[in-house]
Amino acid sequence: MSPPTVFIQAFGCQMNKLDAELALSALRRAGYEEASSPKEADVILYNTCSVRAHAEERVYSNLGNLKSLKRHKPHLVIGVLGCMAQKDREKILERLPHVGLVCGTREFPRIAELVAEARRSGPVLACSETGAVSVERDVACRPTRFQAYVSVMRGCDNFCAYCVVPYVRGREISRRPEKIVDEVRRLVGDGCREITLVGQNVNSYGKSFGKPGALPELLARLDGIAGLDRLRFITSHPKDISRETLEAVRDLPAVCEHLHVPAQSGSDRILAAMNRRYTSRRYRELLALAKELVPDMAIASDFIVGFPGETEEDFEQTASLLREARFQQCFVFKYSPRPGTRAAKLKDDVPLSEKRRRNARLLEIQSEVSSEEHKKFIGREVEVLVEGSSKRDSNRLTGRRRTNHIVVFEGPVELAGKLVRVHVTAATPLTLSGKLRRTC
Ligand code: SAM
Ligand code: SF4
Repeated sequence: MSPPTVFIQAFGCQMNKLDAELALSALRRAGYEEASSPKEADVILYNTCSVRAHAEERVYSNLGNLKSLKRHKPHLVIGVLGCMAQKDREKILERLPHVGLVCGTREFPRIAELVAEARRSGPVLACSETGAVSVERDVACRPTRFQAYVSVMRGCDNFCAYCVVPYVRGREISRRPEKIVDEVRRLVGDGCREITLVGQNVNSYGKSFGKPGALPELLARLDGIAGLDRLRFITSHPKDISRETLEAVRDLPAVCEHLHVPAQSGSDRILAAMNRRYTSRRYRELLALAKELVPDMAIASDFIVGFPGETEEDFEQTASLLREARFQQCFVFKYSPRPGTRAAKLKDDVPLSEKRRRNARLLEIQSEVSSEEHKKFIGREVEVLVEGSSKRDSNRLTGRRRTNHIVVFEGPVELAGKLVRVHVTAATPLTLSGKLRRTC
């Protein structure tokens, strides 16, 4: 008899993608093979996101579309994992009776057992608040042969007023450094050259085992692993990122000159209402210190437009911050009220048309900034880790600088996974392009 097959799709953040890889590892160990499409699978799993209503609507619509597939294939198990499962629980089974498994964020380590139970005896709801937080890693499960994500912590204690994460992912728990070092060693031993450490607020790494501020020490331990060329960490919180962390970026050869440190707003009034616990001045000081210690530092940020009460003046303060900070990249989101959060009690008073206008305006400013900044690279030679063929143009390769800038150029696909040097000849707001000079 052929082995059972599973199709798994992740929605939302990098942590969700990593969790989907971990769930797939566990199911492979239990004898499953990966299916390339939902139609071919015995089990379909969606690892879901609740950060914005739009992300949830997409999953509900995809699940609705699976109804007829389930009718034709009664043995099919459809599972909802992660944040939406934790948030909506039995409501999912009530609304979509063809769903056979609802598995919350803390039940991931039991995923193979839960799938087996759902296949054997019908719908399973598993959404405890306290389960274990980490799943044994199969080093073979990763986005590419030479890149991997490693979780350093789960959950979040910050309770930003708009954010559902602390409610669906629970309190912050850091993994022990020995476990992380061991996992990174195994990944590097298996050919990984670039590791990204992930957590909702990596700067408070260590707090749950009594050593807050342990991130620089962890970076130093990982930096010493022979064969690891690039080490990144996401996401940083402006209130917690320390001078020692920035010094680690400056001093440790593998640690990349790249920070993702979301500002969310440039208005102090809105930052206070968001419960972010820093001011725009403190944020600007942080950017200045980062650039002083690491002149080539590339900084990415997130912004929310249309938070309750955001006036045109507040918005203009955000736009000024964006013009001034010259971010490498910005992600802009329209505020989406999330049930149960503090902000959900406030009136969602910025009309959608205005949120859209503010969103488009910030993206326009960022595009101008990126275009100007990217032009400064023309004529320079940059180091690139080659990721593979470009999706837009299969004749070209794509890769990234240590700063996360995307670089495209012509070259043989066998260079994937190699470090090369590229002479930059042109730039757009999104990419640098150039000519391959040599492999490093
Ligand atoms: N932990 C990270 C931090 O503190 O910045 C980010 C976590 S969150 C999953 C990713 C981004 O989604 C946030 O930085 C924020 O900009 C955005 N976001 C979170 N809740 C939101 C909401 N209710 N509406 C719109 N955007 C939201
Ligand atoms: Fe959400 Fe704030 Fe935690 Fe980030 S730090 S996950 S935005 S509560």
